[in-house]
Amino acid sequence: MVTYNFSAGPGVLPTPVISQIKADLAQNEFTHLSILEISHRSAQFEKIMASAQQRLRDLMSIPDEYGVVFVQGGGSLQFEMLPLNLATNKQSIAVLDSGNFAAKAAQAAQMLGKEVTIVGSSKSQHYRYLPQLTGDFDANAYDYLHITTNNTIEGTTYHQDMLPQTTGRLTADMSSNILAEPYDITQFDAVFAGAQKNLGPAGVTLAIVKKDWLASQSIEHVGPMMRYQNYLDKDSMYNTPPVFSIYALDLVLSWVQAEGGVDEMTRRNQLKAAKLYDFLDESRLFEAPVKTSDRSLTNIVFTTNDAKRDAQIVAQAKENGLFNLGGHRSVGGFRASLYNAQPMAAVDALIEFLNKVEKG
Ligand SMILES: *Cc1c(COP(=O)(O)O)cnc(C)c1O
Repeated sequence: MVTYNFSAGPGVLPTPVISQIKADLAQNEFTHLSILEISHRSAQFEKIMASAQQRLRDLMSIPDEYGVVFVQGGGSLQFEMLPLNLATNKQSIAVLDSGNFAAKAAQAAQMLGKEVTIVGSSKSQHYRYLPQLTGDFDANAYDYLHITTNNTIEGTTYHQDMLPQTTGRLTADMSSNILAEPYDITQFDAVFAGAQKNLGPAGVTLAIVKKDWLASQSIEHVGPMMRYQNYLDKDSMYNTPPVFSIYALDLVLSWVQAEGGVDEMTRRNQLKAAKLYDFLDESRLFEAPVKTSDRSLTNIVFTTNDAKRDAQIVAQAKENGLFNLGGHRSVGGFRASLYNAQPMAAVDALIEFLNKVEKG
C-alpha cells in the first residue's frame, strides 16, 4: 500500500534522505563505524557540523552578525532560553498570542520572572486569525516582541509581508515553517526552530541570534547549558550534541539545496496548499475555518463541524494509507501537514479520498 504521512511533527522526511540514512547506519568501510557510533569529536562529525551550519546560512542568507547554534530540548526549551538570555535589561517582553505555542512561550517567560505583556490575541476566536499590533504598541517598553511565524496547531502564518512592524527587537518561533517559505532574517533579532517539523528528525533545535544583542545582556545567573554564548563559543559542542539528529539535519538541508532552495520549496508548497484549500473551499462537507489571508502553507486545518464524523474519517483515512490526519487534541478535526518533503502525490491522494467520502 502506498502511504503518506501528514503528521505535524515529527514530520515526513525526503525519501532520498531516508535511503542515505539507511546506508550510513551500516558500518562505514573506512571507519568501521555506523553513523550512530561516531564520536562528536571525530573529524567526520566536525565536517557534518560545519556543513549543516553553512548550508543553513546559505539557504537563509544569514549574515555574519548572527550566530547559529544547535541545542537540544526542542522549541519548548527555547521558550525559556530566549527570555533568560535576551530579556535581561528591561526584564519585560511582548507577545503576539497567535496560538497555543505563542501562549506557551509567554507562560514560560512569566514563570522565569519576566514581565509578559500580551499585545494582541485571537484566543477568544479560537486563534482562527492572526492578531496584529495596535497603534499604541510601545517597543521601548520591552526587551523584544515575540511571534510564532507559523501556528502549527491552528494553521495560520505571518508570511513575510505580514510580519509585525516594530522599531524594537523581534524574535520568532519558526519551528513549523522554517525553509518552507521565504523570510528576511535581518528583520529578526533571534529565531529558533525545532528540526522535527520541516528539517529532520527530533532531537535538535536551531537558534539564530544576533551576536551584538546577546553581548549586551547580563546573564551572570544563567547556567552554561542555557547560555547561547556558551554554544557559540564551543561551536554547539560544550557537551555531547545530538550527533545523529545534526547529521540528518545536514542531509535534509543538502536535499533542499539540491532541489532548488527556499524559492523552489515555496513554489511547491504554494501549489500543494492551494490545491487542498481550493478543494476545501468548493466542498460542501469540509470547511477550512481559518481566515483566508492568514492561512498556513504547511499545516492545513479543516473540519466537517461534526467531531464524531471527523474522527471516523480520520480512522478511515488511515486504513487507506493516509496517516496522521487528526487535528491537534486541543482543536480536533483534521490537519494535513504539507512540509517541504511532502510530495504533490500525497495531496492528490488526500483530495481523492476526501472527495470519495463527500460523494459517499
Ligand atoms: C512543535 C512546536 C513547538 C514545540 O516543540 P518541542 O520540540 O516539542 O518543544 C514549538 N513551537 C512550534 C511553532 C511548534 O510547531
